[in-house]
Amino acid sequence: MKKIVVLGAGESGVGTAILAAQKGYEVLVSDSGQIPDRYVQMLEAHQITWEECGHTASRILDADEVVKSPGIPDTAPIIQAIIDNSIPVLSEIEFAARYTNGHCVCITGSNGKTTTTTLIHYIFQRAGLRVGLAGNIGRSFARQVAEDDKDWYVLELSSFQLDNMYGFRAAIAVLMNITPDHLDRYGYDFQRYTDAKMRIIQNQDKRNCLIYWAGDPTVCRELKKREGDYRAPATTPTGHTAAPGHPNLIGFTDDAFQQLQLSFSQMGRHNQRNATAAYLACRAAGIADDIIRQCLDDFPGVEHRLEKVCEQEGVLWINDSKATNVDACLVALQAMDRPTVLIVGGKDKGNDYTVLHDIIRQKCRALVYLGADNDTLHRNFDALGLPVADTHCMADCVAACRGFAEEGDAVLLSPCCASFDLFRNMEDRGEQFRACVRQTAG
Ligand code: ADP
Repeated sequence: MKKIVVLGAGESGVGTAILAAQKGYEVLVSDSGQIPDRYVQMLEAHQITWEECGHTASRILDADEVVKSPGIPDTAPIIQAIIDNSIPVLSEIEFAARYTNGHCVCITGSNGKTTTTTLIHYIFQRAGLRVGLAGNIGRSFARQVAEDDKDWYVLELSSFQLDNMYGFRAAIAVLMNITPDHLDRYGYDFQRYTDAKMRIIQNQDKRNCLIYWAGDPTVCRELKKREGDYRAPATTPTGHTAAPGHPNLIGFTDDAFQQLQLSFSQMGRHNQRNATAAYLACRAAGIADDIIRQCLDDFPGVEHRLEKVCEQEGVLWINDSKATNVDACLVALQAMDRPTVLIVGGKDKGNDYTVLHDIIRQKCRALVYLGADNDTLHRNFDALGLPVADTHCMADCVAACRGFAEEGDAVLLSPCCASFDLFRNMEDRGEQFRACVRQTAG
């Protein structure tokens, strides 16, 4: 019996364990921390062996294969030991894909993954296809394959998942953009992070396609490098460059949205890109044009991403708590068509804020800093000469915004930073924002 070790007992690890047990592997799930109760119950229900609060190296190094949670870095001592022992390390996606004939639509990029993935899934469902949503969101891919296998899967893939994917092939790949992010996991080497993202196209052949945003210089450069495998990028909205033995490359520019006469329920040019990518992916999957257009019009959006909370006394309150890097804040400000009170701050990831200076001068009425320590923000933004407020909790922050905002303005929470200094996570930050805004209404 083949032995498999699953490292990390979260949604993806437990799903992998269930699938592996079903396929006849001897399974051990090992977690360095405490395993949440509901996952312990699931493991027990499937009679899967597990350990928590540490790894038993001897049992782990006895495995034929290891599936690791994307959250565990390669530098973790146990992973080093596994690599030293030449045991293959896979991601959940790689493992689960072996056991499904479902076609995978895979979305990656530094920004826009969740929106595009959710939107594509929404359209597939409305088109009546049997489709699962997985990857970084929703239920684990592996568990769906084990318990309720589908004809299609729409998968949001992070660079961490792609790192441990080798034989996997995306039927339809979508690459939104590549900008610096998570560099701490890649030895501060942007090329290494880029190479991980480009794995989205590995193993694709002429039956498959890649849809990509041709406005991204890194993506275009990387595709050019791979010209031997891929034809030169097409940059027309629907330009197929199908070549025998090669996948279809469908690059689109920002003009495509208009050229295709699309409309989208969500604000901002970046969302037009996401909508265009989703449109092209769904067309590539053979979904009727009118169904896709209808879905783009009524897509309800994704929480914490330029989410309109409410309008009070002529002030529009917008929750973009998911904007945890500078690029995300930049596109949010670009989407603003009203004078904006901007909330920034949180746990700084070594951000370069200078790219925001011009747009802040153009679009912002005031800045409200929200963090445990706002010194870096003062250093970076005070000199712009806008009114600023220094706050350390959401209630004070919302009160300060109320003081600055005038009728016809927007208040935008798009913090550029991680949330862990004051909040449990970005969802908690967004929820507290919504609650405080609604509470203090009128
Ligand atoms: P991800 O899952 O990649 O983090 P999301 O769809 O959750 O992406 O969006 C996160 C943030 O990134 C949004 O709040 C928005 O400000 C920004 N964003 C969304 N789509 C794009 C895009 N196509 N290009 C650049 N930024 C984007």
